[in-house]
Order: sequence, then structure tokens, then C-alpha cells
Amino acid sequence: MIDPDERQLSPSGKTQMPDGAIDIGNGTWITKVQDGTGEWVGINEWHHAPSGDSWEWCGGWVPFMLPGLPEAVHSNHWDIVSLEPLTLSPSLLCTSCQHHGYIRNGAWEDC
Ligand SMILES: [Zn+2]
Repeated sequence: MIDPDERQLSPSGKTQMPDGAIDIGNGTWITKVQDGTGEWVGINEWHHAPSGDSWEWCGGWVPFMLPGLPEAVHSNHWDIVSLEPLTLSPSLLCTSCQHHGYIRNGAWEDC
């Protein structure tokens, strides 16, 4: 059961920070994802997660709610409150490490 006030990230399992990652504070980074036409369609969100004795990158794909998306996928997409600076709704919750917060005004706010 997904809390209606938050959406869940699927951890990517990647171990390397990609080029172009933007530090949005509180141990969180984002990378912009564009489609073939250059439209900004979502972000990958990155954070540190404990794994045994070390830290590894954790994160997930955050697709934007864009015009024309079918109703059936709305619960898996985030509403764009603002693109510049980036504000998304609702909050983001990592299903792997429970990293949980909002992206508001281009910054990460822990829940
Ligand atoms: Zn995580």
C-alpha cells in the first residue's frame, strides 16, 4: 500500500555517479533525463545508502507527470510544481534504504 502523500523509488543499483550530477543538498544528487527530442522527462535521484561496512550509491528513476500520460500511470509519476527551480510533488521514498524527502526549490528536504 503506497501512502498517497509519497511515491516510491526503485533503486537503480548503479555504483558510479554519472557525469552532470547536480548536488541538491542533504546527501542527495540528481541527474536530468531527456527524451530523444530534448524534452526534460524526469530525473534520476541519487543518495548514499549503507551497505554492510561501506557506503554505496542508491537512487531511483523519477519520471515527470507530462501532459497526455494515461491515467493508469499517474500513480508512478511525479507532478511538476516548478521546473526552475525544481519542485516535485509528492515526496520521494527509496524502497531500498528509506531515504525520504521532498525536492523543493531545487533542494532536497528530508522528511
Ligand atoms: Zn536508497
